Amino acid sequence: MNKSMKSFKWLGALLLAAMLVISGCGNNNDGNAAEGNNAAASGDSAAIAKIKERGKLLVGVKYDTRLFGLKDPASGNVEGFDIDISKAIAKHILGDENAIELKEVTSKTRIPMLNNGEIDMVVATMTITEERKKEVDFSDVYFQAGQSLLVKKGSPITGLEDVTKDTKILGSKGATSIKNIKEKVPGVTVLEFDNYQDAFSALKAGQGDALTTDDAILYGMASQDPDFEVVGEPFTDEPYGIAIQKGNSDVVQAVNDTLAELKESGDYDTIYTKWIGKAPAK
Ligand code: GLU
Repeated sequence: MNKSMKSFKWLGALLLAAMLVISGCGNNNDGNAAEGNNAAASGDSAAIAKIKERGKLLVGVKYDTRLFGLKDPASGNVEGFDIDISKAIAKHILGDENAIELKEVTSKTRIPMLNNGEIDMVVATMTITEERKKEVDFSDVYFQAGQSLLVKKGSPITGLEDVTKDTKILGSKGATSIKNIKEKVPGVTVLEFDNYQDAFSALKAGQGDALTTDDAILYGMASQDPDFEVVGEPFTDEPYGIAIQKGNSDVVQAVNDTLAELKESGDYDTIYTKWIGKAPAK
C-alpha cells in the first residue's frame, strides 16, 4: 500500500467516525442526552419519557365551552367531551386517568401555550387545518363538526344565505370561524372576543346579530338559554384533532393508539352519546 492510499484510508475512517457522532446527536433533538438514552432503552422517545417522569399529563382544554370543556364555578370541576378524551389519553400513557392536569386555553392561546411547553397537548375543539399544520402536529380526527350560526329566536337570519355585509357577526379570536365567515360573506362585520363566553354574552346583550362557530359548540350555548337557536345547515367542515408540538411523533402515536382503542372498545360511542346526546354518524 503506498503512502497516498494509506492516508486515503485514514481519511475514510475519520469521516465514518464523524458521521457516527453526528447521527448519534441527531437522536436527541431536545439536547438532553441522558433522557434520550433512558427513553430509547424503554422503547419510548423523549417526549413520552418526559411525561412519564413528571407522572402527569398536561392538557390544554376549554373552560367555557359547554359539552366540550366547561368549568363548573361551584365545584371547580372541568367537564366535557374533550375532558373525557384527555382522561383516556392519560390512562393510556400513565395507566391512570386522573394523572392529568388541565390548563385553560382559548382559541387564541392554545398554539402558543403548546409551543412554549406549558402543555403536552391541546384537546380543545380544534380544527385540523393546513395553516395550523405548519405550527403543530395533529392526531387523527376525533370529532366531526361544521360551522353554523346562533341567533335570538325570531331573528330574520335563518341561515348563511341571510348574512349580508350589514350583518354583525360575533366570534372568538383565533377561531377558524372568523376567517371562514369573512370568506363566505366578503365585507361582513365581525366582532372578535377573547373567548366564547364573552361572545355569547355580547349576543345576549344585543351587540350583534349572530354568533358563529362550530354547530356542536352552538348547541351547547342554545341549551343554556331557550331564547337562542342554531339556524341553517353547517357550511364548513371542522374535523377536530388533538394538537401536539412538532417533532413529538411518539406522543402523536400514543394519542392515535388511544383513539383507536376507544373506538374499538365502544367507549368512544359512550363518551360521544353522553355529551352530544346521540350516537356518532358511522
Ligand atoms: N373548531 C374551530 C377552530 O378550531 C372553532 C372552535 C374553536 O374556536 O375552538 O377554530
